[in-house]
Amino acid sequence: ATPTAVMVGTGIGASQGVLIKGGHALESTHKVNCILFDKTGTLTMGKPVVVSTKLLKNMALPIFYELVAAVEVNSSHPLAKAIVEHTKKFKEDNQIGIDEGKDFVSITGGGVKATVRDKEIMVGSKSLMLDSDISISTEVDELLREAEGLAQTTVLVSIDGEVIGIITISDPLKPEARDVISILRSMKVKSIMVTGDNWGTAKAIGKQVGIDNDDIIAEAKPDQKADHVKNLQMSGLTVAMVGDGINDSPALVAADVGMAIGAGTDIAIEAADIVLMRSNLEDVITAIDLSRKTFSRIR
Ligand code: ADP
Ligand code: MG
Repeated sequence: ATPTAVMVGTGIGASQGVLIKGGHALESTHKVNCILFDKTGTLTMGKPVVVSTKLLKNMALPIFYELVAAVEVNSSHPLAKAIVEHTKKFKEDNQIGIDEGKDFVSITGGGVKATVRDKEIMVGSKSLMLDSDISISTEVDELLREAEGLAQTTVLVSIDGEVIGIITISDPLKPEARDVISILRSMKVKSIMVTGDNWGTAKAIGKQVGIDNDDIIAEAKPDQKADHVKNLQMSGLTVAMVGDGINDSPALVAADVGMAIGAGTDIAIEAADIVLMRSNLEDVITAIDLSRKTFSRIR
């Protein structure tokens, strides 16, 4: 392609909300034959809402949420926002206040903890609980499996090392996600899902979006996401990563083409080669089409 063609291609992209950071990014995109999609905020809307709560101890729901929110107010994670939003309903009814816990700690890809009224409150995934030597009863395991089968994300809450409740959170698929995966398949581009969320939820979302279990990687920490990109590259594939979070940025950098969701975090947008300003997954196809048109000889 001539420099003019590249300029035209980049310009067309920009006019459609596909920001391509330079000619190299546009060129690499036409070779992409494998795309890793992050789940939360990329395949899903990224606007999670609390759908149910299961308490295992005799405790009033508003008091439970008061404790949980005291920890989550310090977190910018979408799940934390969903929980704080949910807690506000009790606050508006003047049932509780939301204060902030002390000694807040955030464990990336796991959850959060803090001391609230002299109790240690931990909020996060089952693996975070297990890593902290907190035991999970068969009853809790059963409840987790049930919610995960419905494609819901589960968050466990413990007080002083004992699980006291499960919060179930739903984050619906983006309406275009399934079609985009199917069109990519017809374009000979393989789609893989990579997520920090648990296997059960990941597989249920995979089923909704049309990604096979074999092409799902769950419970992946940020550097593991990047390692998966590198492994695929070593197997000879040209890999794009599509993501929105801080936890996606190592993978966005490692990929041949990193694509950030426009509504995502600044860190992801900076790490990416292409920014999808509309946050619509159809623009993954727009980018590939544009690059193929600019760089393929047969036209
Ligand atoms: P993803 O890759 O899907 O964007 P993350 O790596 O950010 O997910 O998080 C993985 C898991 O860690 C979540 O599904 C949740 O169980 C837990 N988690 C992370 N941060 C929090 C938080 N602030 N509150 C509760 N749970 C959290
Ligand atoms: Mg995400």
